[in-house]
Amino acid sequence: MIYLKLAEFYNEAGSTTKRLEKTRILSDFLKKISEKDKDVLYLMLGDIYPEYDERKIGVSNQIAIKAISKSTGINETKVIHEWKMLGDLGKVAEKLTEKRKQATLHTHLLTTDKVLENLRKLPELEGKGTVGKKLALITELLASASPLEALYLTRTLLADLRIGIKESTVRDSMAEAFFESKKEAKKRVQDAIDKTNDLASVFEIVKTGKLEKLDKLHLEIGKPIKVMLAQKAESIKDGFEKVGKPCAIEYKYDGFRLLIHKDRNKVILFTRRLENVTKQFPEVVNYIKEYVDAGSFILDSEAVGFNKKTKEYKPFQDISQRIRRKYDIEKLQEELPIEINVFDILYYNGKSMLDEPFEKRTAIIKKIIKDHPYKIISSKQIITDDEKKAEKFYRQALKDHQEGVMFKNLKTFYQPGSRVGHMLKLKPEARDLDLVITGGEYGTGKRHGWLSSFILSCRDKKTGKFLEIGKMGTGIKEKATEETTPDISFSELTEKLRPYFLELKGKSIKIKPKIVIAVTYQEIQHSPNYDSGFALRFPRFMALRPDKSPEDASNLDEVKKDFEDQKRNWRYG
Ligand code: AMP
Repeated sequence: MIYLKLAEFYNEAGSTTKRLEKTRILSDFLKKISEKDKDVLYLMLGDIYPEYDERKIGVSNQIAIKAISKSTGINETKVIHEWKMLGDLGKVAEKLTEKRKQATLHTHLLTTDKVLENLRKLPELEGKGTVGKKLALITELLASASPLEALYLTRTLLADLRIGIKESTVRDSMAEAFFESKKEAKKRVQDAIDKTNDLASVFEIVKTGKLEKLDKLHLEIGKPIKVMLAQKAESIKDGFEKVGKPCAIEYKYDGFRLLIHKDRNKVILFTRRLENVTKQFPEVVNYIKEYVDAGSFILDSEAVGFNKKTKEYKPFQDISQRIRRKYDIEKLQEELPIEINVFDILYYNGKSMLDEPFEKRTAIIKKIIKDHPYKIISSKQIITDDEKKAEKFYRQALKDHQEGVMFKNLKTFYQPGSRVGHMLKLKPEARDLDLVITGGEYGTGKRHGWLSSFILSCRDKKTGKFLEIGKMGTGIKEKATEETTPDISFSELTEKLRPYFLELKGKSIKIKPKIVIAVTYQEIQHSPNYDSGFALRFPRFMALRPDKSPEDASNLDEVKKDFEDQKRNWRYG
């Protein structure tokens, strides 16, 4: 396929903010893509492989500037000047290519295959001379690009397409383009995406127009799956009422979700954001090999930190750094040990378990896992219809420093990617929210040079926008060297946010919604000062949530609910 077609599509899709209009444009475009060009679906979302794949384009502004300069013959200083004026290197590439075109006229036809071929070489480059080789691959593309192509090529390189197309838009457009019964198709397409997380392989099937063929898409070991999520229970009684009696009740461990894939001797670990974190947890790989007795499987689990001496469980924020740190792993493993609590199985010895009832899945877990406390265990669980027993179990979970309990219906299936009503979480009325940082203010005095207060936002589910709900400045250390929890200083948090800085006005900076943090607070109030309509009183930083994406942040409905709940002031124990 000619790359210009894709560039024109980007342009058209980016020119409207209306969801329906975008869906129509995308669905028209999907009809034009042939099966053999299915990898164009990765490019459409600004990627070269499925999103979970670790091979990313990874080009810095500096390299892009050099490539624009080389391909247009305009010196770097001028390119940087234009960048300052236009604020978007894509626009710079477009403008400067326009000038070059008048001079040379001749351009080769660029194809999406060629673009993918060159871009896919980028993450493979290593060692000496990498920068030069990267530059050559990119310059080759830019040199044969038209202005419009240069605009979108550059934005693709910098992972910033700005056309507002998300996975959900692709899902709707696939349903729109190829099926009569749109509603049914949307659901089935979403199921297929949640299972495979690979838009190109889903596209290949929907293109045939036969919905039932989607059932052929299977879980694959090594390909991450979206996890099933829980709804809330208000009380033990409510939990039983909603999931039915008897049901399984399990500890709700306060850690992070870990999906464990194994085939023969190969173990791969994914977070709920589909990131491969195998390298960070070598001890888990060993536990799996030693203490789980099955050939191939995908397990769903929660990894929880504990104190090596006292064996007490630790809250998530104490171990969160283990998810991202890629160096000193052995040391960290000693200092911040974790225990794996397995609570579900999605694939077992060559077969998908998604459509098996929970009671069967949980029985398999008990059969194949040899419990080794503080290494790997099957989650603590009771099966009961008795409220008293449930209450005792709940109290025990809290005493053991866990967050609460989960209620699970025994007969239901595993639904990847869905927040289901047959798995419920119950925890004491914890006044905490996961919020996104969308702005900040530079400090003065000893905090000079760093952001010292942070604008927090929750998500509006309807529009996908982030709405401000408060300003936070407490819970953060003055100096990186202080040994306290939470373990982040003003300078460290500022640096984490810096890549997402948008626009500076006086002391205030707008920040792209990327970083999610857990925040506690004393009270929620109505407030005209923030666009959410609410303000948190005394918000306090608890932890970074690198395992959560901005879409996973608390939404406005949850905030409203917490606001209502605090009036009732229901508290456990
Ligand atoms: P929340 O993050 O508050 O929505 O709570 C749901 C999360 O609890 C899940 O995503 C898991 O990471 C975690 N969790 C801890 N223990 C369990 C368990 N026994 N079953 C299911 N999820 C659990």
